[in-house]
Amino acid sequence: MLLERTEISAEDFQLAVGESLGWSRIPSTWFEVSRQGDTFSFHGRGWGHGVGLCQKGAAAMAAQGPHHARNLAQYFPGAEAADESTGRAWQSFAGDGFVLESLDAGDAAFLPDLNRVRAEATERSGLHAAAPFTVRAFASTPAFRQATVRAGLDRGLHRRELDRYAALAHVGRRQLLAGTMRHEFLHALVEREAGPRAPLWLREGLVEAWGETGGARTPSARPTLTIDGINAALAHSTSDDESEAAHRTAAWYAAQLLTRYGRAQVLDWLRSDVPASVVAALGKR
Ligand SMILES: [Zn+2]
Repeated sequence: MLLERTEISAEDFQLAVGESLGWSRIPSTWFEVSRQGDTFSFHGRGWGHGVGLCQKGAAAMAAQGPHHARNLAQYFPGAEAADESTGRAWQSFAGDGFVLESLDAGDAAFLPDLNRVRAEATERSGLHAAAPFTVRAFASTPAFRQATVRAGLDRGLHRRELDRYAALAHVGRRQLLAGTMRHEFLHALVEREAGPRAPLWLREGLVEAWGETGGARTPSARPTLTIDGINAALAHSTSDDESEAAHRTAAWYAAQLLTRYGRAQVLDWLRSDVPASVVAALGKR
């Protein structure tokens, strides 16, 4: 619209009126103006900016199911979800038991490796997930942090794990992909199975024990850390060395459990809790 020969958008006009005369004067940008002498009449309807996402409509759609892509298409035709920093669109690749989401089409080359370690995770743990996992490959570690810290970190995700997420191509080049992703698939399987009372040392220890190839990192000597000490260090470690020791010791205890009682029994305890007498016996030879 023209105001003293200056063109101004309906949105700016509504903001200016809202700020000076109150926000209920012109509740929406959907209005028409007519003039009779010195009087201006505004006729309109609705509330808000009058374009884009209708909050009530979106809420009603969301209640019918989590189809954010369909919701977006309804209000923003032609829009697609893209990465903030690179502007690239997210693409999905179907794996066996997981979906890989990436900003880089070249990441599809990692599907065979990911399929292999995903199968190994199920084979070693005996755990099957009903629904496929989502593996999201971020452009960089900072991009991953930004996206996840805002949404809240996953249960049990600690600094050591956070540092493992780097660009998939980078991880693949450095031959870290198989070990890292086997570990993460195992975490996902274990966390889906774990009951609310499942101890932290068991969850982390099982992942470490099953994740290792040939148990090379498991110390053969009895560890010095107690179960309480491991839990404390896993929850809030003050150094990488402390965290590393806690992981190693948790793996040792979990491996002892698996050897002594068998996988089926240990999985039962993962769903409930490890009996105190069993934990006490673990510390002794
Ligand atoms: Zn871990």
